Amino acid sequence: MINITIDGNKYEVEEGLTILEAAKNADIRIPTLCYLKGVNEIGACKMCVVEIEGKENLVTSCNTKAKDGMVIETMSSKVMKSRREVLNLILAHHDVRCISCGKSGECTLQDLTREYGIETSKYEKSTHGDLVKKDNPFLTYYPELCINCQRCVSTCNKVTGNRTLKNGKIGTTTLIDAPFGPDWKETDCESCGNCAEACPTGALIAKNRRKYQPGRVKKVLTTCPHCATGCQYYLVVRDNVIVDVEPANGPSNKGLLCVKGRFGSFNFVHSPDRLKYPLIKNKETGEFERATWDEALDLIASKFLQIKKEYGPDALAGFACSRSPNEDCYMLQKMVRCAFGTNNVDNCARVCHSASVAGLAMTLGSGAMTNPIGDITGDVDCIMLVGSNPEEAHPVVGMQIRQAVARGTRLIVVDPRDIGLSKQADVHIKLKPGTNVAFANGMMNVIINENLQDDEFIKERTEGYEEIKKIVMDYTPEKVGEICHIDPDLLREAALMYAKAKKAPIIYCLGVTEHSTGTEGVMSMSNMAMLVGKLGKSGCGVNPLRGQNNVQGACDMGALPGDFPGYQKVTNPDVIAKFEKAWGVELNKKPGTHATDVFGAAIRKEIRGLFIFGEDPVVTDADQNHIRKALESLDFLVLDDLFMTETAQYADVILPGTSYAEKEGTFSNTERRVQRVRKAVSLEGEMRLDTDIFIDLMNRMGYPQPQLTSEEIMDEIASLTPSFGGISHRRLDRGESLQWPCLDAKHPGTPIMHVGKFTRGLGWFYPAEYVPSAEQPDDEYPFILMTGRILYHYNTRAMTGRTPGLMMKEGHSFIEMNTEDAAKLGIENGEKIRVSSRRGTLTTTARVSEKVSPKETWMPFHFPDGNANILTNAALDKYARIPEYKVCAVKIEKI
Ligand code: SF4
Repeated sequence: MINITIDGNKYEVEEGLTILEAAKNADIRIPTLCYLKGVNEIGACKMCVVEIEGKENLVTSCNTKAKDGMVIETMSSKVMKSRREVLNLILAHHDVRCISCGKSGECTLQDLTREYGIETSKYEKSTHGDLVKKDNPFLTYYPELCINCQRCVSTCNKVTGNRTLKNGKIGTTTLIDAPFGPDWKETDCESCGNCAEACPTGALIAKNRRKYQPGRVKKVLTTCPHCATGCQYYLVVRDNVIVDVEPANGPSNKGLLCVKGRFGSFNFVHSPDRLKYPLIKNKETGEFERATWDEALDLIASKFLQIKKEYGPDALAGFACSRSPNEDCYMLQKMVRCAFGTNNVDNCARVCHSASVAGLAMTLGSGAMTNPIGDITGDVDCIMLVGSNPEEAHPVVGMQIRQAVARGTRLIVVDPRDIGLSKQADVHIKLKPGTNVAFANGMMNVIINENLQDDEFIKERTEGYEEIKKIVMDYTPEKVGEICHIDPDLLREAALMYAKAKKAPIIYCLGVTEHSTGTEGVMSMSNMAMLVGKLGKSGCGVNPLRGQNNVQGACDMGALPGDFPGYQKVTNPDVIAKFEKAWGVELNKKPGTHATDVFGAAIRKEIRGLFIFGEDPVVTDADQNHIRKALESLDFLVLDDLFMTETAQYADVILPGTSYAEKEGTFSNTERRVQRVRKAVSLEGEMRLDTDIFIDLMNRMGYPQPQLTSEEIMDEIASLTPSFGGISHRRLDRGESLQWPCLDAKHPGTPIMHVGKFTRGLGWFYPAEYVPSAEQPDDEYPFILMTGRILYHYNTRAMTGRTPGLMMKEGHSFIEMNTEDAAKLGIENGEKIRVSSRRGTLTTTARVSEKVSPKETWMPFHFPDGNANILTNAALDKYARIPEYKVCAVKIEKI
């Protein structure tokens, strides 16, 4: 500690603080403009100057360390005169048009000019109004409002790691070279808007900000509805309409947002094509007709009861919505179990991370991310990223990985494509799609041969080591090089880098899970981590980045055919007895049918009635023609959704769903963190909460379910689910951040799992052998097709497709192919081509580059004008029943 004097008072402060920080700790405010803690501490604006006894010149307090014995004046006449001069100089270049400025009322410069009594500059004006950049649909740069503080440039470089915002020059004036001009689509700018958030004036500003005055809106803290990063933000609401999003400093996003969260998360709520009342299909005309709630719910109840009576309860099934809150998913599965009388309930994790749920539960005892996002992107030595492209699928995680790499963390990227992060990687293993198990076995081969395994950890905490050791000894780098089409030396380098790093998490995603051997791929990830003892520790672990915002929660809530809430097994008689007692009904003891098997069962007429809550399997599931046939085969299909989807066309009854902005509840993000979702706008007309619909239907089907609020539903969940035992809306509303397991009302939650002991007791080395993908390229279909997500859209585009700016950036289907292949087929970049698999044909646009290897291709699955799932293969993994989206054989033809 050191002793300093500020404005005549003595303080004892920590050594190493800047004067600004020391003053702040002593509750003394020093004004700043360019300062951004940890990001921009350059003293450029000179507003934070202070006077130090014995020094002739003023010093900038943001980047001058406090020293023992220092006597500091923060408000001396010399200081105040200097600050007024600074403001005069700034205003000489600043167009004072506060009435039309979107930042008015929240502008730091406006605040300071008022505080220091400066209305206009005493110097001659100079402006750059003709250099406004406004072509980007979300962001504008007004150079005449720019004070050149560098906060935006530092944020783009150091915080988002995007590095597209630079300093430019006009004559002798430095201006920001913002990539928002006519060529905005061609730049690398992600339109994340974090630069605009950092701007203290209205120079760099989101266009939405011009639509409202700060004092005339309410701000509702909630959770982003797109990916499972779980970013926290405020919905800005004016007159029951959401007009903007402002970031909050949540545990997983730390004040950052991506383009989808900031700009693509509310237009859809107010979209004119929202479903607003129930619809029943007229069997004669095939048209949907408006119905009352009584007509719709009575029809559903009578049809489902009839199917149940004639064919038994297992002829019914229900899918939960992974975009909806935990409370909705819990009530949906309760409706299926208690009123339908079956365990045929599932959610879309089946087609994304069911392999993680199954695989990690088998090897570790819990099928979820082991460590928090901040922990695995913070102070770590090495990150191994396998089959994951977080810059596009989980952008705020991607930003944090870029920050880590900039700090010196080493990066291993294992991916068949050149993803953005592979440019920054120390090693990029560009392996053949579908060879993850061989890759992992090769890594373990090197680690064991180099004697880098953690013998003590293996002995104390695991089982099955000798068996896996025997298997991986056969996977020499040379053999793995042949299987994976990689350089054996790169594999050696990656293995040594990962094993020798003290803190090194594995982060993986759908490139590992979406295979016919996806569960074995997942277990290979835990095999590698256990081998080097990197589990149950900070900065380590096995970390699946879950897809949709609440896909973790939908699984946690028991929207799974074999699990009640909290992964309590349907096959366990004690669990059944507990739920029978609590729910007051005799439950079906037979594990249900997985969602991906429901379609085959529908074609075979084993399943006849289906309730789909917020899913669009025609668009999202593999082999679209198979899905259409299954839906046509059903006796009765009910859909509860926001919009008239592709799947809705097959429904007998459509119910209007409610969005995340219209209800209370919680989402569980990818790191098991349960976070609040809050109602920001009220429902229109006769729309009802989804939980009210389920409760009403349960009663009409004869199961007496009392009316419950979202908070009461969470209390019921907590009473029946040990891992959620201590979670309540009340604790979350008090600001507590809880990651399950959270056992009771005093439990702080569990940021890192498997500390000291695995959930299953001993960690299990699964003896995984490499098995090739179900469909291999051949003479007729010579290319491998992979599918995935892009930054600007989420899954079916139901939400992002209703934000015009996102569609302007990426609005159409495309296929990436290698330059060599394109040349052989005479295909040019941007040309329309035909792509076919054994299951279907589509037309799309070629994007020719080196991103994919020769004989490999890649498509996003968001776009209806060439939906990749017309082509994909529904070959299912034996454990998790996940389809092989990542490998199917296709042919490409010039049109
Ligand atoms: Fe939303 Fe995911 Fe973007 Fe965060 S990273 S703002 S959760 S889409």
